[in-house]
Order: sequence, then C-alpha cells, then structure tokens
Amino acid sequence: QKYVYFFGDGKADGKADMKNLLGGKGANIAEMTNLGIPVPAGFTITTEVCTYFYDKGQKYPLGLKKDVAAALKKVEKSMGAKFGDPKNPLLVSVRSGARVSMPGMMDTVLNIGLNDTTIQGLIDKTGNERFAYDAYRRFVNMYGDVVMGVRPRNEKEHDPFEEVMEAKKKKRGIKMDLELSAQDLKELVGEFKALIKKRLGVPFPEEPMDQLWGGISAVFESWNIPRAISYRQIHGIPEDWGTAVNVQAMVFGNMGDDSATGVAFTRDPATGENYFYGEYLTNAQGEDVVAGIRTPQPINRAKKVPKGMNTLEDEMPPLYKQLAGIRTTLEKHYRDMQDIEFTIQQGKLWMLQTRTGKRTAAAAVKIAVDMVKERRITKPEAVMRVSPDQLDQLLHPTLDPKAVREKIAKGLPASPGAAVGQVVFSAEEAEQWANEGKKVILVRIETSPDDIRGMNVAEGILTTRGGMTSHAAVVARGMGKCCVAGVGEISVDYKKGNFSVGKTVVKEGAWISMDGTKGEVYLGQVPKVEPKLTGDFGTFMKWADEIRVLKVRTNADTPHDSGVARAFGAEGIGLTRTEHMFFEGERISAVRQMILSEDVEGRKKALAKILPMQREDFVGIFRAMAGLPVTIRTLDPPLHEFLPGHNDTKEINELAKEMGVKPAQLKKKIASLAEFNPMLGTRGCRLGISYPEITEMQARAIFEAACKVAREGKRVMPEIMIPLVGHVNELKLQRAIVEEVAQEVMGKQGVKIKYMVGTMIELPRAALTADQIAEEAEFFSFGTNDLTQTTFGMSRDDTGALLAFYVDEGILPKDPFVSIDEAGVGQLVAMGVEKGRATRAGLKCGICGEHGGDPDSIDFCHRVGLDYVSCSPYRVPIARLSAAQAAI
Ligand code: ADP
Ligand code: MG
Ligand code: MG
Repeated sequence: QKYVYFFGDGKADGKADMKNLLGGKGANIAEMTNLGIPVPAGFTITTEVCTYFYDKGQKYPLGLKKDVAAALKKVEKSMGAKFGDPKNPLLVSVRSGARVSMPGMMDTVLNIGLNDTTIQGLIDKTGNERFAYDAYRRFVNMYGDVVMGVRPRNEKEHDPFEEVMEAKKKKRGIKMDLELSAQDLKELVGEFKALIKKRLGVPFPEEPMDQLWGGISAVFESWNIPRAISYRQIHGIPEDWGTAVNVQAMVFGNMGDDSATGVAFTRDPATGENYFYGEYLTNAQGEDVVAGIRTPQPINRAKKVPKGMNTLEDEMPPLYKQLAGIRTTLEKHYRDMQDIEFTIQQGKLWMLQTRTGKRTAAAAVKIAVDMVKERRITKPEAVMRVSPDQLDQLLHPTLDPKAVREKIAKGLPASPGAAVGQVVFSAEEAEQWANEGKKVILVRIETSPDDIRGMNVAEGILTTRGGMTSHAAVVARGMGKCCVAGVGEISVDYKKGNFSVGKTVVKEGAWISMDGTKGEVYLGQVPKVEPKLTGDFGTFMKWADEIRVLKVRTNADTPHDSGVARAFGAEGIGLTRTEHMFFEGERISAVRQMILSEDVEGRKKALAKILPMQREDFVGIFRAMAGLPVTIRTLDPPLHEFLPGHNDTKEINELAKEMGVKPAQLKKKIASLAEFNPMLGTRGCRLGISYPEITEMQARAIFEAACKVAREGKRVMPEIMIPLVGHVNELKLQRAIVEEVAQEVMGKQGVKIKYMVGTMIELPRAALTADQIAEEAEFFSFGTNDLTQTTFGMSRDDTGALLAFYVDEGILPKDPFVSIDEAGVGQLVAMGVEKGRATRAGLKCGICGEHGGDPDSIDFCHRVGLDYVSCSPYRVPIARLSAAQAAI
C-alpha cells in the first residue's frame, strides 16, 4: 500500500481528484506541480495513515518510516540540500490538509530541521545571520507550542514565549520585534529552549528526524483539537475523514526586501468581480498575512491603493507578471475561482497552495454567471456552483440606504451583508449572550481559530487589525456573515470592556450596526430593507428555472406573504392555512362562540359573523395570486387551540357575557373539548364531518371571494384541500359539501370558475389506500409533517430533544422533520403517488410540509415525480435552485 506521495521537479505522484486520499492541499499541490507551476518539493502522507493512526492507538503502519525516508531523499535531491546537514541544511514544513479546507483549524509547523548545528549552515548559505536566528526562534516557539504543548495554562496567563520575548525587548529598551538583533534572537532561542525544559522536564529535540516525526504526529493529532471539532460540527464534516500531512521544503519570504509572501484570489471573493485580488507583505513569513498581525498591501493597482501603500506590481514587476500568469493558468485549469498562497524568496516565486476559493453568496452568483459568459462553464455547471443554503444569504435584508446613520469608522469590506447587534468583546461572551436570545456583534483586535463558535452565533464580526485575507475575513465569508476587518481607527480595551474611536467610547452591550459591503460601522440600530433580486441574481435564477422540472409554490396565509412569495418567484400557493385567519383581531371571539355553541343554530349564527371576514381574506389572496393556483385547506387544528385555558376566568367571564350563558356552563364545555392527544384527536376533516356547517361556511367564503375577484377580470384558480383524510368516505362527505356550495354560489353570482377539490395525504392509511382516495380527489398534497409524525409515531412537539439526541448518537442520520426520511416516510409518498396516478392518470401531486423548503427533500420530491413543492416565501428561491440541481 502506498502511504506517501511525492511531488517535485515538475512531476507528482498525485493529482487534483485524489482529495480523499491526499487531502485538498496535497492533491492541489500535486496538480500544480504537474502543471509546471513552481512548487517547493515535498510529499504527502495519506489520510489513510490518519485513520490507521486513530484506529491503532496512535501507531503508524509498518513501512511508513521507510517510505518517508525515501521520499525525503527525493526532496533533498530536488532542492539540492540535505535534511540535518550541518553545511547545507534542508528545512521543511509539516502542513495539515483535510479533504475540504478547514482554514487555520489544524496545525502547521514551519522550519523543521533547525538545531544548534544546522543553524550555522543556514547562516553560511544565506549570509544572513539575523534571518537565520529569526527563523530558529520562530521554529522553537512554534514547535514548543504546537508539538510540545507549551502554552498558557489558563485564560489569565499570557503566551509564555511572548513573555520571554517582551522581557528581552524591555531589557534592550526596544519596542518592535524587527529591532531585535541577531544576538538577541540567538539568546531567545536558548531562553525558549530553557522555558520548554522547565515546563515539561524534557529537552527540545535537537535531532531533525525526531523533530519531523514530532511534527507529523502533532498534525495528525490536531484533527481532534476542540476548535477543529467545532468547525466540523458547524460545517457538517464527518469525523472519520481524517487529515493528510504534507511535508514540504521551506521557502522564505523573510530573507530581505527581495522576498515577500502573500495570499490572492483569482477574482474578488467578496463581490465576484473579475480582477486579480490579493495582499502581500514584503520581508515576512506567510503566517504574518493570515494572522493579521501586520496590515498587508494590495498586490496590484486594480482598485484604489490606500495612501502610503505600495503594490507588488510596482515593487517587483516581473514577479507580479509571473504570478498573474499563474492566475490565468489556474483559472483555466480549474474552471473556478482559486484562492492561492505564494512566497517570493530572493526574487524567485513559489506557489504554496491553491484551492477553490470561499466566496460570498453574491460573489458565487456573479462568478457563476460571468464564467458562463466567458464560455468557461455551462449553465447547468453554473447552477451547481451556488449552494441553496448559500443563496439564503442574498435573500436577507441589508441596511436601509435611506436611513440616517452616524458613521463612526471605516475598515475593510471583508464580508458583505448587514449586522445590527450589541457589542461583545469575546467569543465566550458572544455565545452566552446569543444563548439569551440577544443579537451581538463580536468586536476583536483580531480573531483566532478558537473564536469560531462565538463567530458563528454573532450577527457580525468587527476586527481592528488584519486584512481581507485575515482569519476573521475568511471564516466570516465562509459563514456568510457580515464582517468589517482592519478598522485601524478603533482601539479596543478588553480590560475596560469598551472600544473608542476619536472621542466616542462604545461600551460592551451598546448597539452598533455594520455594512459589510462598504466596510462601515455605525452607532445604534440602523433599520434594514429587503434585498433586490435583479441583475446577476435574476439571470442565475432564470437558468435554474429553465432547468428545473418541479414547480415551486409557497405556503402563505395572507395577501402580504403571497405578494412576497410571488416576488421571489412562487408559482402559486400550495397551502393556505385557514385557521391562522381565525386568530386575527376580534374574530377569535366569534370563533369561540361558534365552537362553544350548544347547537347547530348557535354555531350558524357565529359562523355568519366569520363568513364576511374570511371572504375578505380570500379576496386579498386571490388578487395577489391572480392567474396562479391557490390551494386552501379547510379547518385543521383541534378546536381547543382556539379556546381560553379553562382556568382563564377573566376571559371566560367576558365570553359568557357576550354569549348570554353562565360562566360555569362555558367552563364545562371547554373542559369537554380538551383532548389527551390532540394530534390524533378531533382535527382535520374530522372537524368538518362533526360540524359540516364549518366546511360549508369556508367553502362559501372561498367561492364568494373567487367570484368577486373573477368579476374584476382576474383569473382565480382555487384548489380546496381536505386535511387528514384516512378513509375515502371522509373525503367523499366533505367534497359533497364543497361541490354543493360551489354550484350554489356560482349559480347565484352567474360566474363560472374552474376549481378542484383534493386532499392531503398525511396519514399512512391514506398513502396505503391512495388508489381509492384518488377516486374522489382531483389532487394530492403530501403533508409530510403529519405523515412523519404518524409514520414514526412521534409527536414533533414532544420529541425535539429526543431527536437531537438521536442524531448526536447516530441512531438517526438526520432529524426526519427537517429532511424527509426517504426509507420510511418517503416510501409512503412514492406509494401514494403511484397508487393515486394508477386511478387518475396525471393526478397533480405536491408537497406542503416543511420539507418543501429543504434541498435534500426537494431532490427526493423530484425523484418520485411530484409536480410541485411548496415552502415558506423566503425559501422559494432556495427551492427553485434546489429543484434545478435535482434535475441536473
Ligand atoms: P493552513 O491550512 O492553516 O492555511 P498551511 O499549511 O497553508 O496552513 O500553512 C500556513 C502558512 O505557512 C502558509 O500560508 C505558508 O505561508 C506557510 N508555509 C507552509 N509551508 C511552507 C513552506 N514549505 N515554505 C514556506 N512557507 C510555508
Ligand atoms: Mg494555507
Ligand atoms: Mg397536517
């Protein structure tokens, strides 16, 4: 078995499609090597070794040592240096790399191979003693921290290496790291080693091979450090994938002013604009850019260059040209936007990484649309490039451009969107406050990978240091979260719990607002407005619509929601819940009187009060949905949901007075309507069968409204839906009522309307006897919420915590109320469709449960041949995209 894959000298054992085995970083480094792009030689240890390592109690497979030694020989040959050689030492980095990128979450160790002997070789080779000792002290620091575990023991403690360094600077009367002399750095190496010995009782390993294996083990172990675990949980990355390890020859961006290091994107990751976007630092090591310690400079003049900054294009024109050429090569080859890392060592360019760049939703859409126009990808490929969940970001409000606001600072527009929240200064606090239901903005000098959970719950993130490629910016973009980075004017005082900008002091808990697209920060709460869905978004959605087969409707109970959904592209209403209308304003009192009446006459009297109100609701909805089908469900919930609690004396008294009955009598009636298990009690069509006058009133309201709107010259297409049918006879009875009222109303009004009467399939028996039910039903709508409850025998309201536990324990792969259970509930849906259509060819079938907005469930709906899905208004575009992706 091959555990080690070499790359170097223009040839690599691996390639880009071997990500599962080599991790994303390793596979892409191999691919770049094969493309003839300059990459420092190295080798990748596979993810299989990681799996083995964890399965076998942290042991390595037999033969690995030998393979690593052999690969190292090849690297030595390629780079013309020897690992551990006192005269001409090769130094390497040990880099993590999972299948999918987990930026900064796992460990990397640089400069492995340095010791008190090889340091002399590095000095002689480079003629730069200060550089060599700087590399050495960085190495001992990083190795001591990452591999050996010398770090703060509690939250109050400072970084122990940092403390030694500060002491040295103080003693020497200097402020900046750069002012430390070669001699100072040399002393620091010794002091760092002493610190390690003191803390751990074991010496720093001098033997380069020991260092290498220490680094390799540390990277494998970093798969299981808490922040990496949190990141996997947030992004749904399986625990058993493991990481690969890349061992690669070191190149140095900190060897003087002809050296540099940087990060770039082949297009702008925030907006998607097609220009070469990047940042770099002269005379620095790669980590300096990502960690946001110095604010980097732009690589070119594509956008306005801030005052006092230079560009790579101006500083090193030939190298910039070479880099720009690599940008083109990579985009052509990968046919997607790439995120790259590069280092320039004494005038020679080296590429250290390429990967598909994380981008905001807006950028994803723009890049997909542009790449079709540039003929790099096809429309279906473009449609696959944006995930439905990501699209969600575009549907959310932005700050109202017309609202007055007090701008207090401007930074880099690191991740777009709007955020309004209360200021907190730590990730832990962000989590605490968010748990209490507060909206927070996390304000930090810089963020570290340990802040990931706090960032996840924050509305937005503000940092005062770091650039567009700093940790905060990259992570925020990945989460679709508003982020303003590098706001230099703001100074944060963690101790006092405030930040200040000019004379303004903003305390913890104060409200601020941010515009991530402009990079601006405002005092107070700025109002938000709905997004516009035009331009590239419109083009992109048009392509999705061309591809999809499923229609997309919405669940809406009001004219307003109907209008919103229609603007989002809904092709009708799949579910109007009439009961919501019963709670509006004073209606509830009439509804209660209806329910609590002792006889039909009393009920009819109350229903007569409700009729005109309900009719007006339908008029509004029919108008908003003119020309499109509207499915209206007759009353569904158990009646007690409309009643006051039986101890609510005040309400009961008032109601009794209004109805002219005794409070005691009313109380008795309320008690008699209580059910032990209302989910399975008198609800759905069982209500309309027990009280036919309710269905009759609702049908009347629907048809009177339909006639009225039809007379206005608008097309109305009502579809009356009877809920919770288990036996065909139930539907038959309810349908007869609807048909009779329809004929009567249309006859009286002299208007003819095309309508349908159908049913929900939401009980297992309905699915099992769908062939019989289809005799009476002109359409089916699968109510997968109830169908899931009744198939699993689990009430959704009572099993929330249980299901979360089931999913955590792996008893169920996912919550069946979120994503449809294909094997069980899905089988009933498939059966219902098949049996229904056997009786009635072409029977229209849809879904109206929560699943109608879930991408995985939509994929299933496509596969079983439903005609449409129906979901909440804001999810309509997501469903349109999911339906298109299901069809590709
Ligand atoms: P991450 O996955 O967290 O980005 P990397 O493995 O990319 O970690 O390492 C972090 C940084 O270390 C890189 O951005 C690069 O600047 C630097 N680095 C890693 N390996 C080398 C190397 N062989 N030569 C020079 N710099 C390196
Ligand atoms: Mg990297
Ligand atoms: Mg239901």
